[in-house]
Amino acid sequence: MKEFWSRRVRDMVPYVPGEQPRDRQFIKLNTNENPYPPAPGVMEAARAAFDTLRLYPDPECLALRQAVARATGVRPEQVFCGNGSDEILSFAFQAFFDKEEPIAFADITYSFYEVYVKYLDLTAVTIPLHEDFSLPVERFLTEPKGGVVIANPNAPTGQAIDRDTLRRVVEANAHHVVIIDEAYVDFGAESMAGLIDQYPNLLVVQTTSKSRSLAGLRVGWALGNENLMAALRCVRDSINSYTVDSLAQAAAAAALEDTAYFEKTCQRVMDAREAAWRRLVALGFDVVPSQANFLFVRHPRIPGKTLFDGLRQRGILVRRWDLPRIADHLRISVGTPEEMDALCRALEELAGAE
Ligand code: PMP
Repeated sequence: MKEFWSRRVRDMVPYVPGEQPRDRQFIKLNTNENPYPPAPGVMEAARAAFDTLRLYPDPECLALRQAVARATGVRPEQVFCGNGSDEILSFAFQAFFDKEEPIAFADITYSFYEVYVKYLDLTAVTIPLHEDFSLPVERFLTEPKGGVVIANPNAPTGQAIDRDTLRRVVEANAHHVVIIDEAYVDFGAESMAGLIDQYPNLLVVQTTSKSRSLAGLRVGWALGNENLMAALRCVRDSINSYTVDSLAQAAAAAALEDTAYFEKTCQRVMDAREAAWRRLVALGFDVVPSQANFLFVRHPRIPGKTLFDGLRQRGILVRRWDLPRIADHLRISVGTPEEMDALCRALEELAGAE
């Protein structure tokens, strides 16, 4: 095996995405998808874009960037669109970081950051979260050398940090890019989007995958000043100029226009999260305070693997990592009230059987 593989690929341990089961119907609470369908206008916009499929898409995604700008309160020149925020993050790591100066991120955070560091032959310092999974902010003010990446809310914990605290991190690292990954920001956290005019080193990354119910479409974007946008274009146009297809551009723009639907579905997810949070705490689980569309949950006595397997047997899929500090935790995406009810009943049964 691995004959003909380049050295870089031979030695890689790639990111492992959450399971997308095909064999059986699960209550699927393992990949932080939105339980509600995309906004009603999305289908029609995608259908209309069919007529343009003979042509290459707009490489600059102008109409989509205008829609993002309207939704986030920035100017279109301050938006860069890509094939999911994973692509945006990978471009940003290439555009803004160098090997000689390590990038700082938390020890428990989105595991793709570490994968990009290895793949791109960069270096990193991982800063351990406190025991309660809060961010040791002071260390992000003093330790980083070559840039910072913070998911806010963090994944897989769901904890958010306030804007003023993050502002201090951006100011303390004025000579390097600070990436704030806001994949889950619409479920109750404070966005940094309004600060990009003030801070030339701030890059905010967002996605349609969670709060816009479009994980399958693959559309994300970065917000930042025009200098940062130019560097991202430089990376993109050195790899693949057409990363966002015509259907995706049209459909994502339509989703962004429907503010009422967006607010309604986000609120439903937040309500279901709070209800599940209360129920799980009452059942004796430790539940990390969450501003995201998932809960990070542990039972004080039952191992995480036992809970994970027990839920799977009952047709409920959640996510668990066999890693130090979090092996007993489950990350549970917030589904519909009915799905959360099924989850809570299954966990009650498992906790009762201990
Ligand atoms: N950032 C974080 C923190 C995530 O959890 C995810 C989803 N796995 C992403 C970015 C990527 O999302 P997408 O590529 O679907 O936009």
